Amino acid sequence: MDLAKYRVTDGKDFKLKQHDTNDRGTYSGKKEAIEPLAANLELLQELQDKLYAHNQYGVLVILQAMDAAGKDGAIKHVMSGFNPQGVLVKAFKTPSVEELDHDYLWRSFPWLPAYGNITIFNRSYYEDVLVVKVHNLLPAAKQTTSDGSPDIWKLRYRQIRDLERYLTENGIIVVKLFLNISRDEQGERLLARIDEPDKNWKFSAADVHERQFWDDYMDTYEEMIQGTATEMAPWYIIPADRKWFSRLLISEILVQTLQKLPLAYPEVTDEARAAMVTYRKMLLEEGKDLPSGGVLQ
Ligand code: AMP
Ligand code: MG
Repeated sequence: MDLAKYRVTDGKDFKLKQHDTNDRGTYSGKKEAIEPLAANLELLQELQDKLYAHNQYGVLVILQAMDAAGKDGAIKHVMSGFNPQGVLVKAFKTPSVEELDHDYLWRSFPWLPAYGNITIFNRSYYEDVLVVKVHNLLPAAKQTTSDGSPDIWKLRYRQIRDLERYLTENGIIVVKLFLNISRDEQGERLLARIDEPDKNWKFSAADVHERQFWDDYMDTYEEMIQGTATEMAPWYIIPADRKWFSRLLISEILVQTLQKLPLAYPEVTDEARAAMVTYRKMLLEEGKDLPSGGVLQ
């Protein structure tokens, strides 16, 4: 699949309105997506195995979206392809008192992926230029910038670009996914959470409240993508009105991202190979000459 249409590497002219939330690529429907998704999940398993063995790159997947856009479902369906060993999902909620007492990036650091691992951020430090901006949650004292720049949000975009450049330069690949759902589709999904008893547990009054700020959120997302899409750490705009397409697209993005890395299983040195011959012999001869049940000394 050609991902160029969904990838933003330079935010200068980015306009969210130009991205169709209902897009389904060249696929006619859900059925047609079943096989390619399954094939991608299989590929992902192989690639993850290699990533883990190679142990020189980590992958940070960032998921951002409005409520009910399908973040949790995407994690459940797409990430199910991975071996749980080597994958971690971290959800970022309203900051704790302790977290608020630190700089806004602080709480992310302990969760960044180790080499060989994949970490998925369900929400992220991007909340600090989204919900915090929409609801003006920054205390007045923090709205002044220490470097004299007039706009705290522009400063934060630059800080985030710097962080992501630092990570990429150190082998941590940053994949940023914005699940782009329409207001109408979100309305239907929230209604379904009320009308369908098995979905009731997902309903949160806060989601209906946040919905009232839809236009502010869209402007803020647009500005955030303009300020933080880079060649090194692009944003992908995922059409999210059709869950089957967004999941397929996410799987494709992850496959292509991992395929681009020069991953290889570590080579066995001559020394190690020679040692293996000795150990092989030991294993085969185990217990033969030992008097007490074959315990090796
Ligand atoms: P959910 O992901 O639906 O469980 O909700 C988590 C909530 O935490 C969302 O309403 C987010 O906007 C909120 N949240 C996450 N990070 C921050 C942050 N840095 N500041 C304020 N609210 C946040
Ligand atoms: Mg929620």
